[in-house]
Amino acid sequence: MLHKTVYTENNLKTVTCQAVVENLECDIAIIGGGLAGLSLAYHLAKHGKNFVLIDSQKIGDAASGINGGFCSPGWSVDFDTLYQEYGLETAKDFYNISLEGLRWVHSFKDNDTFKLMDFNTGIVNLSLLKSEESARKFFFKNNLIVRKESQFISKKSLKSYVNSPLYQSGILVKSGFSFNPLNFLIGLKKEIQLKRSGVIFENSKMISFVENNKTCQITLANGSLIQAQRLVIATGGYGGDEIGYLRSRWLPITTSIAVTKSLPEEVKEIINPNFAFSDDRRAGNYFRLISDNRLLWGRGINAIKPPNPKELKKLTQTDIKKFFPSLQDINSYGTIPFDYVWSGKMAYSKSMMPYVGRFSPRTYMLTGFGGHGMNTAPAAAILLAECLLGLSDRVSIFKKVPLKWNGYKFGPIAAEVLYRLMTVKDFINQNMLSIKEQ
Ligand SMILES: Cc1cc2nc3c(=O)[nH]c(=O)nc-3n(C[C@H](O)[C@H](O)[C@H](O)COP(=O)(O)OP(=O)(O)OC[C@H]3O[C@@H](n4cnc5c(N)ncnc54)[C@H](O)[C@@H]3O)c2cc1C
Repeated sequence: MLHKTVYTENNLKTVTCQAVVENLECDIAIIGGGLAGLSLAYHLAKHGKNFVLIDSQKIGDAASGINGGFCSPGWSVDFDTLYQEYGLETAKDFYNISLEGLRWVHSFKDNDTFKLMDFNTGIVNLSLLKSEESARKFFFKNNLIVRKESQFISKKSLKSYVNSPLYQSGILVKSGFSFNPLNFLIGLKKEIQLKRSGVIFENSKMISFVENNKTCQITLANGSLIQAQRLVIATGGYGGDEIGYLRSRWLPITTSIAVTKSLPEEVKEIINPNFAFSDDRRAGNYFRLISDNRLLWGRGINAIKPPNPKELKKLTQTDIKKFFPSLQDINSYGTIPFDYVWSGKMAYSKSMMPYVGRFSPRTYMLTGFGGHGMNTAPAAAILLAECLLGLSDRVSIFKKVPLKWNGYKFGPIAAEVLYRLMTVKDFINQNMLSIKEQ
């Protein structure tokens, strides 16, 4: 599937890697060249390991190259949920691991291979809670480890970030940043090729694998075979039945992004271009101003039928008008015009935590990063690399994440219902909390 996104406008030049055309043998085969698979490949290449990475498409065409480009600490579930599920010490360990991934991505900021990454530090999480006081209470209830990375923004100060009648306060995530995810992936691909050439193969789809006591045999769509001592499944939301049992443990969830045409200069007084923004609903909006005063607007999750491009433009239009009515006054077009709309798939487990580590004697998992993969996929890849290289067993923390059944055909329906319920819960939270306080 080819995506035309805003990131393809100004992407770093890259040479498409060859497809697998003959049988191969290696120690480790990585299936999937999204951020998870590529980050793992980077560490293995650095240690001179004998591996190959295959992707069914061109690197960058799936979620990792088309996402919102928000990178912040944490996971798809919040710290409180981790605390309740796994206890305080494990929640803290998970949080620190997520920070490790974020710092690793950040460390490439000034590297020449990663030019055009458009780094912008600072993500603001906006609150729709009707009262600033309840939002402040929530913030100070947070564990210190989370608070250390962030700062509360009162309603009064929020005006220097966004001008919206709906947002009541915010939390500035100081270590968070936004960036061009496609150029990051391309940079990573180049770095791997510099360290070990000829190990990445594009347009090479795994259609099945069998594991015996000596090797894993991977069959590709064109009939080629790969014999590997160990296999890593890093297929994100794009993996199908070919990944076997694991496919029944997560659900593909779609989310979408729209990018407006260039807006008048005054848009910078409504949305501060120095920050990226998200809101505190379960599936809230995420947005930021990008080059040429265009507004990148991410929205919604769908487990069943994602909106088509026309519907998506309409839904985004409604969102933007609701949160930023003043954009209407400065926008000479009347309705907001769009340059791009696109959707992509994410893999969600029932616990919303990823599956990482060994799950049968020769097969390893590195998938399920949900909507928070830009720091967590590289973080998990660091731990899995340490395990595969025999350097540490830190990856065993993920044994605590249960491999829960996805509900087969009913899973997407249940997920869709859950999402609607969460939306109602968010609405109640926003309106009732303030009433309680009055
Ligand atoms: C629109 C959108 C916006 C998002 N915004 C953000 C954001 O702002 N911040 C954030 O942190 N996260 C965001 N996410 C989530 C984030 O993009 C993902 O969590 C992350 O990219 C997952 O990386 P991955 O490597 O696991 O999967 P992917 O990037 O999906 O890569 C999986 C790869 O596996 C390949 N593959 C699948 N099956 C096979 C096979 N059989 N054989 C060979 N190759 C195969 C695919 O072609 C694909 O390239 C967003 C996601 C989407 C879709």
